[in-house]
Amino acid sequence: MVVDADILRHFAMPDLVRPIIEAEYSGVREALQHGKTREAIIEIAERAITLTEASLQRVTELVQSDTPLACRAGCSYCCRHLVVGTSAPEVFIIALYLTSPHAAVPLPVIWQRLEEHVSKTRGVVNRDRGGVRMECPFLIEHQCSIYPVRPLLCRGYNSYSIEECREHHDRYPEETKVSKCVPYFELPKAVDTGMRMALVELGLGGAAPLELVAAVRIALRTPENMDRWLAGEPIFKVAELSLVA
Ligand code: SF4
Ligand code: SF4
Repeated sequence: MVVDADILRHFAMPDLVRPIIEAEYSGVREALQHGKTREAIIEIAERAITLTEASLQRVTELVQSDTPLACRAGCSYCCRHLVVGTSAPEVFIIALYLTSPHAAVPLPVIWQRLEEHVSKTRGVVNRDRGGVRMECPFLIEHQCSIYPVRPLLCRGYNSYSIEECREHHDRYPEETKVSKCVPYFELPKAVDTGMRMALVELGLGGAAPLELVAAVRIALRTPENMDRWLAGEPIFKVAELSLVA
């Protein structure tokens, strides 16, 4: 498979991301080669997480910057105003986690938070959502309650300065500078891109990113929604990031 220039122009570091896109694309096709099954979708989500974490770890070893990232447990300015884009496999694995005995928070609590979030953001277009100052419903006591299965893009979000993150949060939507490690952003985005390319080719939609909250609500409604999606039903259409408002 060849990653074309049109896709690579969305990345600041094309040479870094190309092999990641290719690896993820091949992994998704491999997982689905024996059929569009629930097991395959879970495998795709788990592999994407593994590839993302391995890539981020590799960057950590290569970058060896004198300035360490400021990110640490309990710091959550970034989770209080972002609109998170995600994919169907990631959404399904989050729904499975939330309904499993391993879930950090009881499901009724999460449902309530999802509903509150939806009612507060209804009618607010994406570009204005940061201004609502509505924290991610999965953020509980400054911790991500779906941490083991959190979206790929959350894994790469980073900053060299908590102060800059605080200022960015407080002054949003005014543009303020946040110093970031670019490869950390690029690699999860590359995994996401490879996954989408394969899903589209295999007739599973996937071209448009899904808004995290809207998509998880759909996946949680009934376990059969995974089968409907696997059968090609566009169950996430209303959760597409470009449409959510
Ligand atoms: S990106 Fe900013 S707000 Fe988020 S954990 Fe890192 S330093 Fe804290
Ligand atoms: S899913 Fe977790 S890491 Fe991502 S924005 Fe929500 S609380 Fe933060």
